[in-house]
Amino acid sequence: MLTIIDGLNKDPNVHGILVQLPLPPQVDAGLVLDSVSPEKDVDGFHPVNSGKLLAGAPGLRPCTPSGVMELLRRYEIPIAGRKAVIVGRSDIVGKPMAILLLAANATVTICHSRTSNLAEECRRADILVAAIGRAEMLGEDYIQPGAVVIDVGMNRVDGRLTGDVDPEAMARLSSAYTPVPGGVGPLTIAMLMSNTVQAAEGRRS
Ligand code: NDP
Repeated sequence: MLTIIDGLNKDPNVHGILVQLPLPPQVDAGLVLDSVSPEKDVDGFHPVNSGKLLAGAPGLRPCTPSGVMELLRRYEIPIAGRKAVIVGRSDIVGKPMAILLLAANATVTICHSRTSNLAEECRRADILVAAIGRAEMLGEDYIQPGAVVIDVGMNRVDGRLTGDVDPEAMARLSSAYTPVPGGVGPLTIAMLMSNTVQAAEGRRS
């Protein structure tokens, strides 16, 4: 696998490389991801791109959180000075989401499985981002009336795709929300295309 990636890294006709996760358990996923050239890392997972994200330097950003930022921008949702609460601290969603919202001047709280009083923390949010992986876990007790709710969750329940937030509570209490399916998911794919174009343009410049 590393030999294949090395070949793709060197191929000037290839601008973007995506390693589809999960990999089989006998394969070291970290090693494989780190072998992708940072300039072709359209997933934005390479440590070089994570470092650039943290430093606020230009680089390829993880697709799901950058899709959420694009969505907030397009719908003209104010971010600066507002309280953003993210439930989930994964390297691919929660952490980069927090950094991007912080860079946009939100006051950011990151919650996780050890957070005490999760509902209380979530109710403080003007912008609530759920990236947990637990079907409809956040109900009405977790949503401040008028909050903007971004549901990143994608859970299969009896063959049906559902998010991490109770859709009925989200529709009733929020001022704006992303449905599942049809919300953040398609945006992630769009941002993957956007990263690929960015990588290709970087190659030419
Ligand atoms: P991970 O499993 O890597 O992370 C889940 C996070 O949720 C962890 O930080 C975990 O905390 C936290 N968590 C789990 N249970 C609880 C709980 N009871 N209370 C509070 N926090 C909890 O998941 P991902 O970040 O990869 O994905 C999250 C969801 O987003 C999934 O449903 C996934 O399918 C979806 N997803 C959707 C995408 C899209 O395109 N729409 C793209 C990527 C993901 P701790 O760290 O303490 O374990």
